[in-house]
Amino acid sequence: MTDNKNPPALDSLGSDNVLRLLEPLRTSAAGQVIYRQVAHVLRETERTQNLISRGYAAVLHTLLNALRRQLPRDSLLYLELKLVQQRLQPPISLAELAVLRDYIRNVTRVMQQVTEPDAALLREALAPLLDGYAASEPLVSSGPLPATAPARGEPPPAPEPEGELTASAEMRLSSLYRQRLDKQRQEFEELQTNLAHKVAETIQQQEKFGLMLEVALENLKHADDVHGLEAARQHAIHEIEKMLAGQGLLVRMLNDTQAFLQLVRNNSERLSSELDQVRVLSLTDELTGLPNRRAFLRRLEDEIGRAQRYESPLTIAILDLDNFKQINDTHGHAIGDEMLKTYARDVLSIFRHHDMVARYGGEEFAVLLPNTTCEGTLRALDKVRRRAEETRLIHGMAALPAPTFSAGVAVYEPGENIDSLINRADGLLYLAKQEGRNCVKVDPGNCEDEAVERPGHT
Ligand code: GH3
Ligand code: MG
Ligand code: MG
Repeated sequence: MTDNKNPPALDSLGSDNVLRLLEPLRTSAAGQVIYRQVAHVLRETERTQNLISRGYAAVLHTLLNALRRQLPRDSLLYLELKLVQQRLQPPISLAELAVLRDYIRNVTRVMQQVTEPDAALLREALAPLLDGYAASEPLVSSGPLPATAPARGEPPPAPEPEGELTASAEMRLSSLYRQRLDKQRQEFEELQTNLAHKVAETIQQQEKFGLMLEVALENLKHADDVHGLEAARQHAIHEIEKMLAGQGLLVRMLNDTQAFLQLVRNNSERLSSELDQVRVLSLTDELTGLPNRRAFLRRLEDEIGRAQRYESPLTIAILDLDNFKQINDTHGHAIGDEMLKTYARDVLSIFRHHDMVARYGGEEFAVLLPNTTCEGTLRALDKVRRRAEETRLIHGMAALPAPTFSAGVAVYEPGENIDSLINRADGLLYLAKQEGRNCVKVDPGNCEDEAVERPGHT
């Protein structure tokens, strides 16, 4: 909003939109009064909501800190909690709350295994809570909500990219999970071999007993006096008893195997649901190491807020590699993967530090360019195109050329929401594909020169 006397402290798109709707009121004196009243109420409501949100986050941080201090620094749970805390920045969405709830369930379960909590540490960690968290603002100091809005016209420094700690913690976490899974699989294989061995042994014994039983029966058939008959009968009874005992053992073993298999199944279901949760919380794409779609959308939301407040330009581009399926079909999926990594590392790395390049989907990348106009974005994409032309993936004796890309570029329009901005970029990407690929499309009117830029293409 553009009232210079009253710099807006409204952070959310919702309030700005409401005020935008009421803008015509301001042409009359009475309307001006009503407009100010509404703006005041909205500001107050938002301030309260922010305080509540920060309060909840502060409480959660304090509790998680307290819990973390009870754990060894290199334990899985310690890292997991650290990761959760990094994600736990207000405002917290409903989806994030649901994931956190599952974590807390897990944590409660593990907490029961912590036998001797250190009382002094616990007290120290809980002190800010006991003293009242009103004085403990710094607990959430890294959150995206500044305590006071910076003066209008002075854009605050761009947010730091997600710290390296996050990426390395994530990597350690998933490698720890993988180690746990591998260990379980190994144990399972050993037990399986053991069981198979025992079962084979028992079957062999059964066969031996069967043979001996046949001998005993033959003896029984051919016994010609009372003594011989009694001896053969005793022998047959003895063999039958041995055979029954062997069978009982076999049944017990099979039951044990079944119970064990159930245990393994439960365990691996639990592990994979834990892994799913880590993935949901994750902000990094495993293959390329780039931020993933979730990270992109999160940052885009922040940047839209900034663009609204400071009226700075904001542009996004969605890039889709051309005919990528052919690379998989010709050289195999593993080479396709390598090509995606090469693209991320060697081609898309030319964007500026403040731009964010994310893996948006399979062979789709999204780029966010704060403080950049449409023309600036087109220049950057032209550099990307040239870089892609020079890039090769070395595979054995062959040097495979990197594919071309098509892109849709959308410039943020004041008041627009995140979905509309992305849909516009997506629509333009679709248009670029329809026009024959290897080109970039922008909205007419967004940019001085509309269609760009393919050698020999208009
Ligand atoms: P277009 O120019 O229309 O985009 O053609 P395309 O072949 O790139 O697009 P299409 O949507 O037909 O196929 C996308 C291909 O990208 C198929 C899919 O297997 C491949 N792909 C997506 N993600 C990955 C990945 O992670 N690794 C590999 N190797 N291939 C992937
Ligand atoms: Mg695609
Ligand atoms: Mg494609």
